[in-house]
This record gives sequence, structure tokens and C-alpha cells, in this order.
Amino acid sequence: MTQSLDILAIAAHRDDIEQTCGGTLLKHAERGLRCGVLDLTRGEMGTRGTAADRGREAAAAAGVLKLVWRAALDIPDGRVENSWENRLKVARVIRQTRPRVVILPYWKGRHPDHYTASTLGYEGCFTAGLKKLTIPAEAAGNLEVVAGAEANDQRPTANDDLPPHRPFKILYASLYCDVRPTFVVDISQQFEVRTLALFAYKSQYADQQAGSGLFPAHAEIRARLEAMAGFYGLLAGVRYAEPFVQKEVGLVEDVLAIPVASV
Ligand SMILES: [Zn+2]
Repeated sequence: MTQSLDILAIAAHRDDIEQTCGGTLLKHAERGLRCGVLDLTRGEMGTRGTAADRGREAAAAAGVLKLVWRAALDIPDGRVENSWENRLKVARVIRQTRPRVVILPYWKGRHPDHYTASTLGYEGCFTAGLKKLTIPAEAAGNLEVVAGAEANDQRPTANDDLPPHRPFKILYASLYCDVRPTFVVDISQQFEVRTLALFAYKSQYADQQAGSGLFPAHAEIRARLEAMAGFYGLLAGVRYAEPFVQKEVGLVEDVLAIPVASV
């Protein structure tokens, strides 16, 4: 990658981003910012479809969300572990894409891959900034770039010499966890397109018979997405929103400009 990303969202599974922060990425992409996604796994354990199917679908969803870059690491699906080896893989991507903001999953939840991805992502960001640590290209494992590969190909060939980098801000997308967000992002204008991005995962979300007891049909998924986005929107007086947690306290310059009415 020749140009840094403004925002890099990291998630355990292909289609997590589409559910938790896809509207936020799209909103910023529409403003001309460079947004990318790193999926830690490739979905080979999924009930429906293959990892190759899901790679094509992730590329299609990336186009819908106007991402400039999307890739998947080769961490086993269902076995996301916060190991040194995996931290180096994440850190290598951080050095390669040099994001200003990183969005991670919230650090608690039902699925071990999700909460482990949170800690792994955070420690990957930290590791990426270690000045004396060299991360050779081999440490990256097999990175499958499904969108923005051409930009990736143009990067300097000195792969072993990516300079250290830490993102300025780490945000946690908290949609999967019932926790009060620090703030929400208004995605009223992006909600419909974000829904299309999720439905780009045809092997998972197309109306079909196989596994239909496990996988709800389009109409039901849509109703759930509306309910979740509508709930978080209501908290801030907008139609649809995505929730985030940040660990740092908020800093205000102008108290007259703080949004969301109190009474
Ligand atoms: Zn997931």
C-alpha cells in the first residue's frame, strides 16, 4: 500500500464488519477518506459455502462499502488466538496500511473469536509501534488481499523494512455486546447500502433451503438490522446508528457544540 489508510477495521470473521461498523466506514468513505478492512479468518468453518466463496463475497461487500483495501489473514476460523505469531501478523498489516484510526470488536461477547480478536487487535497495534522490532514478510503469513490489491502491489519491495507505526485512536465496535456505547455514529443515510453489503454474502444470507433452520431469511435479518440500528439511533435522536466504545475520556473544546439534546 503506497498511501496510508484513514481507518482500518479489524474483525474475526468476514461479514462482522458489515454488521458492526460498515455504515461508519461507508460514511467516511463517502467523505473521501480511505477505509480498509482486515478480516482475521476466512470462514472455512462456515455451515454454508467455502472460504473461496466468502472471499469473493467479501470483495463484493468491499465494493459496496467503498473500501480502498480489504484482506484476510490465515488465522484458523473458530480458533482465533492471541499468540505472538498472530500479533506479528496483525502488526505487519498495521505497518503496511498505517491507519490513523483502528476499529476493533468490543472486548467482551459470546463468541470467543470476537473478544479474542479485540485483545489480539489491540496488542497487534501496540506491537506494530515497537521501534526495535523488525517484522519480516514471512511473519505476515498468507495475506489474501481481496480488494485494493493493485495499490498493494505498488508498495516498495523492501518488505522487511516497514517502519514502526501505531494508530492514533482505537475504537471498539460494540454492537455484538449489550453495553452502553460511548458514542454512536449516525448511519441513517448509509443504512440501506450497508444492508446490501451484508446481503453480498450470498452463501450466508440468500433465501435458501439448506440450513434454513439455522439461518434466518432476508426479511427477518432486515428486521433485526433495523431494530438494532434503530435502537442505537434512538439513543442519540437519529434514525439509525452504530455504537462504539472508546477507553479514553472525551475532550471538549466548545460545550455549545456538543450534539444530542438532554431534555
Ligand atoms: Zn463473527
